[in-house]
Amino acid sequence: MAKVDLKFGKKLKKFGAIDFNACYNCGTCTAVCALSDEKDSFPREMVRFSVTGLSEDVKGSLKPWLCYYCGECTTYCPQEAKPGELMMSLRRYATSRYDWTGLSGLLYKNLLAYIISFLLVIAGVIGAYLSDTFTTEEWFHYGHYFEMLAIVGVFLLILTPNIFRMWLYSVQSKKKGFKLKHYFSAFGELLVHMFTQKRTLKCDDDAKNKIWWFEHFILVFGYLALLFTTVVLDWFATEVPFIIYMGYVFSGIIFIVTFDFVIRRIRKRSEKSTFSHPSDWFFVIWLFLMGVSAFAVRLLVDTGLILDNFWVYLFHVIILVQWALIIVPFGKWTHFLYRSFAMYFDKVNKLNAA
Ligand code: SF4
Ligand code: SF4
Repeated sequence: MAKVDLKFGKKLKKFGAIDFNACYNCGTCTAVCALSDEKDSFPREMVRFSVTGLSEDVKGSLKPWLCYYCGECTTYCPQEAKPGELMMSLRRYATSRYDWTGLSGLLYKNLLAYIISFLLVIAGVIGAYLSDTFTTEEWFHYGHYFEMLAIVGVFLLILTPNIFRMWLYSVQSKKKGFKLKHYFSAFGELLVHMFTQKRTLKCDDDAKNKIWWFEHFILVFGYLALLFTTVVLDWFATEVPFIIYMGYVFSGIIFIVTFDFVIRRIRKRSEKSTFSHPSDWFFVIWLFLMGVSAFAVRLLVDTGLILDNFWVYLFHVIILVQWALIIVPFGKWTHFLYRSFAMYFDKVNKLNAA
């Protein structure tokens, strides 16, 4: 018999859910959702699970990730139960259940914990600077090593075990046996969705959505390319003109696109950007600051002014550490990974069931 969590509704509110208890089960949301079909029917089912406290069913479901938050269901819901926002909060809830450290849940539910963790990073970086432990040359050197270590450490210690847990809950628990060939056949889904997010285009076919998809696409490309340029090609230290120009272009893409995303969230002109959880703000603002500060540091290096303006580099390091140790492993960045794996696991489940 399904286990009922009587406090589930209260918990979801902490993850950003709003009025889902107003739902009277009419099904309009599922009827208008362009991504819902007979095999993957949502969001009404997810609203029902939430209202009735079926938290384990939510944990094992991939449906929250199959929604790309166009907001149509919220627009048409006669009860103003905001099913689109519920799907967002279920993704945060699912993330907190995948995360073995428990820190994702803590940060999603508690803004103060987020702020304290950011302040601790600021104190750590400024303290290290004031202690004179490193020369300015060493700061650049170790900043670069930090990036490499953070990427490997976060992937090995946090993200890989969390994806394993996601697999346990959403695939292994279905008890359909392990068929390796299905994992190979479905692997393309993972790559396609990770790098193109093409499902967004099915979500809503108006011109604004296409522009949003294109911006998101070049943001992912710019982010991954800047990561490669700074971590592998050592952008701040290189003297190769081509690499230097590449870094300017990629960091420029990041701060221009994220600036537009911040403005959209402020203006709230579409359903997609009407409700912003603190984690949504942190994600776009920190990405914007990463792009701007990386661009500024390289510009100061090229103009020979970096030593007189070393605080700019320190600012970049603070943003980088907060991004790498807080937002990437425990914040909204993980959506990028979990959504792609959800598409993959969903395909595996369908092949297993066929
Ligand atoms: S449209 Fe609104 S009231 Fe109807 S099932 Fe969906 S959430 Fe419930
Ligand atoms: S937000 Fe869009 S994609 Fe998500 S459930 Fe609602 S209608 Fe479907």
